[in-house]
Amino acid sequence: MLTRLFRIHGFLVASYPWEVIVGTVTLTICMMSMNMFTGNDQICGWNFDCPKTEEQILSSDIIILTITRCIAIIYIYFQFQNLRQLGSKYILGIAGLFTIFSSFVFSTVVIHFLDKELTGLNEALPFFLLLIDLSKACALAKFALSSSSQDEVRDNIARGMAVLGPTFTLDALVECLVIGVGTMSGVRQLEIMCCFGCMSVLANYFVFMTFFPACVSLVLELSRESQEGHPIWQLSHFSRVMEEEDNKPNPVTQRVKMIMSLGLVMVHAHSRWIAEPLSINTIVDIPQVGIELEHVSPRRIEPEKPLWHFYITRMITLDIEHVICLSLALLLAIKYIFFEQAEMDSTLSLKNFITMSPHAPRLPTKTCCRKEPLTPYPQIPPDSMAGLAPPKKAERDEVIRPLSALAAERQSKSVFVVGEEEENLKLENAQPSFPSKPRNLDQCVAILNNPEQGARFLSDAEVMLLVNTKHIPAYKLEAIMERPERGVAIRRQIISRNLPCPSALSSLPYTHYDYSKVMGTCCENVIGYIPVPVGVAGPLHLDGKQFQVPMATTEGCLVASTNRGCRAIALGGGASSRILADSMTRGPVVRLPSACQAAEVKAWLESTDGFQAIKQAFDYTSRFARLQKLLVGLAGRYLFIRFHSKTGDAMGMNMISKGTEQALSRLQQYFPELQVVAVSGNYCTDKKPAAINWLTGRGKSAVCEATIPAKVVREVLKTTTEALVEVNISKNLVGSAMAGSIGGFNAHAANVVAAIYIACGQDPAQSVGSSNCITLMEASGPAGEDLYISCTMPSIELGTVGGGTNLPPQQACLQMLGVQGASQDCPGENACQLAKIVCATVLAGELSLMAALAAGHLVKSHMTHNRYEQVALF
Ligand code: NAP
Repeated sequence: MLTRLFRIHGFLVASYPWEVIVGTVTLTICMMSMNMFTGNDQICGWNFDCPKTEEQILSSDIIILTITRCIAIIYIYFQFQNLRQLGSKYILGIAGLFTIFSSFVFSTVVIHFLDKELTGLNEALPFFLLLIDLSKACALAKFALSSSSQDEVRDNIARGMAVLGPTFTLDALVECLVIGVGTMSGVRQLEIMCCFGCMSVLANYFVFMTFFPACVSLVLELSRESQEGHPIWQLSHFSRVMEEEDNKPNPVTQRVKMIMSLGLVMVHAHSRWIAEPLSINTIVDIPQVGIELEHVSPRRIEPEKPLWHFYITRMITLDIEHVICLSLALLLAIKYIFFEQAEMDSTLSLKNFITMSPHAPRLPTKTCCRKEPLTPYPQIPPDSMAGLAPPKKAERDEVIRPLSALAAERQSKSVFVVGEEEENLKLENAQPSFPSKPRNLDQCVAILNNPEQGARFLSDAEVMLLVNTKHIPAYKLEAIMERPERGVAIRRQIISRNLPCPSALSSLPYTHYDYSKVMGTCCENVIGYIPVPVGVAGPLHLDGKQFQVPMATTEGCLVASTNRGCRAIALGGGASSRILADSMTRGPVVRLPSACQAAEVKAWLESTDGFQAIKQAFDYTSRFARLQKLLVGLAGRYLFIRFHSKTGDAMGMNMISKGTEQALSRLQQYFPELQVVAVSGNYCTDKKPAAINWLTGRGKSAVCEATIPAKVVREVLKTTTEALVEVNISKNLVGSAMAGSIGGFNAHAANVVAAIYIACGQDPAQSVGSSNCITLMEASGPAGEDLYISCTMPSIELGTVGGGTNLPPQQACLQMLGVQGASQDCPGENACQLAKIVCATVLAGELSLMAALAAGHLVKSHMTHNRYEQVALF
């Protein structure tokens, strides 16, 4: 019941973060201003001269206070140091946010109850910092960070609140009551400290329950996707760490705490309200029980000096104890920021495994490195362990072969992705040993859910049992295992059994691959990767620069042919290119009750006001998406709205889909009867041949041209300009027209586009629209023997951030071209440069293939033995 209440509370807070944040901040500020502006409206500072209370504090108190301050600073430093080891800057940021806002609330409470000035705050803050416990805030943050989408964030915050809320509430209650006992001690300084302690606990609790979850939800929503296209906060290694069971409090401790708090309530009731019916002031009115402040109101002084001057003077005349505290804080901050970064960078991956949390330290087992079994394990019936044969001895020996052998084997392998290899080898030293027979289901479940153990302590057979009994969702294997690669290996074993050829996967590689980059972004249910050979064509001389163009293909001669085209271009003085337009599209379909109403919506969208309203909603969703225009088509009562937008360096389909959704919601506010049938109504048009892309463009529209001297045409391309021009007209123009082609006025643009797309992490399916190209050739030069060639490609759909461009090998290919990632100087420049390279490489490919065709037409006998004859089959 209580858990449900907390869950509902968590869900509401995470669902309405703005409201909660504004509400909490307003409440805090109200409290402050009630005090500041309705009572004694003086805060010591610029224009109020405060009485000097320090003079009345004993020097021994000052020493104690200074020590407390220093301890508080060191304590906070260590808390942050521990958090950093979790490896997420988000956790750090969130913890920072929590600390700052809690301190703010706390300060407000202190100021409010002190009722006059900030003097007490000086003493109070160290106690607050000493009592702040970031671990619970971070536990809740980890729940949120383990999500892979915003919806999951809300659910996980609710789940986290359900798990942590009751414990935190009880803890806060107990702490408050225990510390509250001190306020009755009669010892003045102790009473003050205890008062601060109670306030600190309450401020922490208040922030944890309201502002904090709302902020986590909002921050994660605002930083939803990285430039690589996946949620930047997502920490897959937290996904199992945050199992509810693992975080459930110990019921015995809970019971003890409850009994204790009941007892304490009675003690308080007795001493405060029965034995000594004092006012609430006993607890909160610090001036009465605490520091003997001279009750001299701050004196208003005329602000003769400027604000900055006032504070600089204050800083210069700081007391020695303040100097000590400030220096310590500064030193620790410098150490934290500058000197721990390098160390952390090198050890982060290791520490992620070892020190993340009590749940997390799942070191890789030797089974992670297990070779694919030659004979797969027998099928496990879904609901029992029957038939689950343990690996035979020979297999086990293979599994637990010595580390040195493993290391040697790894060294001899050419690694695909090498990151963390060394650490993993070290970690494999600490292997748990498995019993010869798989343990029963209950034991396996217990091990999996045990924070000290987890999947690392389960053999592959036991993990498979848990998958078959649905205790581990098969699709989450990578996330749940201590290493994603082990998850992939186990999935292969599971599916191998049901394949017509059980050993089919033995030739599909899966090791030495960084699956963390794939998870949640590029592929699901991963069982390995397909190595595709990558060739290079170049140097491609384009716009005064040279490029080596990577091409991933299994088609013989393609790279060689393109390379020949590049050579011809280079000898001709290079190619030139321009971007004509940059505009990705999404075309949803919506329905209105009648065709006439649909026409009205169309007219509104085409009006300036309508467009501006939609643009505002659209542009709000991204830093890069900027709505350029709307193309509205109507069919009966269906309306097709083509959103055209810039997308920076991203190909932009996700980005623009997000903007489109927002824009449609706005449209529905104006036309409530409008129904969104589908966010993509094929009016985009994505991954399908469509005249609209050819005619109006999609993604980057580019043109590239080159002039090839007659000599180069003859010697490199082995043909003549005349022959080339004739083949181009008859094949690429007339032939394509005869075939009713749309955008296919070229020889083989798709060949080059697809090869570059695969190498550079583009969406290969978008080679459909991206290959739209018209190749034109003319005779030029004084003698009319030189060749002028151009390729115009109106719909090159590509990006240098997001999707597959996030994967290291694909990034390497983008780096070859100098266009990897987001352009720092001008967003979109990298993607446009890549589009120009694609267009120019297509031109090289066109030159070479057309030359081969022309030469085949003219010099059949010559082509018989020419290596390019195969290309001529295109
Ligand atoms: P994305 O990765 O979803 O979005 C790009 C992200 O990078 C955004 O978060 C953007 O910030 C950020 N970013 C940082 N620097 C940038 C820069 N200089 N230029 C542009 N963005 C920058 O990428 P996407 O291109 O929109 O989508 C690609 C993915 O969509 C691929 O995985 C592809 O397979 C998939 N796809 C989806 C559909 C579909 O129908 N939804 C269709 C085809 C393909 P902001 O948050 O500020 O925008």
